[in-house]
Amino acid sequence: MLSGSAEESRYHSRMDARLLERYSRQILFAPIGEEGQERLRRSSVTVVGCGALGSALAGLLVRAGIGRLRIVDRDFVEPSNLQRQTLFEEADAQELLPKAVAAERHLRCINSDAEVQGIVGDLTPANAEELLGGSAVLLDGTDNFETRFLINDYAVKKSVPWVYAAVVSSHGLTMPIHPSESACLACLAEDGEPEEDRSATRANEPTCDTVGVLGTAAGVIASLEATSAIKILLGKSEARDARLTAFDVWTGRFQSLQIPRREDCRACGQRQFSYLEGEAQPRLTMCGRDSVQIHERRRHLDLTALGRNLAASGSQVRQNDFLLRLQVPPYELTVFSDGRAIIKGTRDPSVARSIYARYVGA
Ligand SMILES: [Zn+2]
Repeated sequence: MLSGSAEESRYHSRMDARLLERYSRQILFAPIGEEGQERLRRSSVTVVGCGALGSALAGLLVRAGIGRLRIVDRDFVEPSNLQRQTLFEEADAQELLPKAVAAERHLRCINSDAEVQGIVGDLTPANAEELLGGSAVLLDGTDNFETRFLINDYAVKKSVPWVYAAVVSSHGLTMPIHPSESACLACLAEDGEPEEDRSATRANEPTCDTVGVLGTAAGVIASLEATSAIKILLGKSEARDARLTAFDVWTGRFQSLQIPRREDCRACGQRQFSYLEGEAQPRLTMCGRDSVQIHERRRHLDLTALGRNLAASGSQVRQNDFLLRLQVPPYELTVFSDGRAIIKGTRDPSVARSIYARYVGA
């Protein structure tokens, strides 16, 4: 982090010859130009989730010269991520690095002028202001609707533009959201039926875990999403032009739809922010693998002491500065210092809860 005065002088100075050269091909693109490039350099964005979409997005934006980028992710790098998650390398998986830590390292190497902040954690109603505040645009790199609705609630309540995106199999979609001007995610995805029914419908929808996902599909959607973000930051995204864009890389099918705002929308119409005001989910099943996450709110764990105790009792433990990995065949338990844990090998929350209680504590 830069100190106040250094930060001010950096942001108030014009770009020097080195930066003009670095971004020359983007400056030549007339809708951006030197003024637009300068504006990007003074911009802050937050990317929530650093999987296939998030890592492609973060890479594109840092290369495009976004001044400050915060990236939030709760997970760690695994070999099965490398097929599509373009920011990570084999060594990141071998070292069990959290994605936010690995992403920050690689992004700093890509562009040392950018201020990159990787945050290992789960976006919840309790930390939404801390993690989403201060950004001009919020970007969706998540893999689940609970987190997307939380971002939508925050964005609509605070009038911060955001870009929704999702990808599965060979297709994906994205839509920029200008709160109170264009349709929000609740206008699009909530149709008045009870939340329980919608959750049940969503639970049966295909996920990356059941039908897979192509890196090429994520690349296309991330590129569309990053372009929306750049246009919003430059003030060149009109709410009346906001459209839902869907693309299938396998069939080549492309769709672009105007989504109307709904007057009775829970979020942008009635201003009921039930995801933002609700309690954080203490446990949930994650997309991408056979596992359950347990979230203990703000419980600090001494991983060194925990690792010592587990090793002394004969358990097979690996750990680094960020997490501890314990093999309990057929399960694998990964514990973070904020008390969160991901239990692999089950989809049953009660099994996950009992493993957590047994090895980490109730
Ligand atoms: Zn709405």
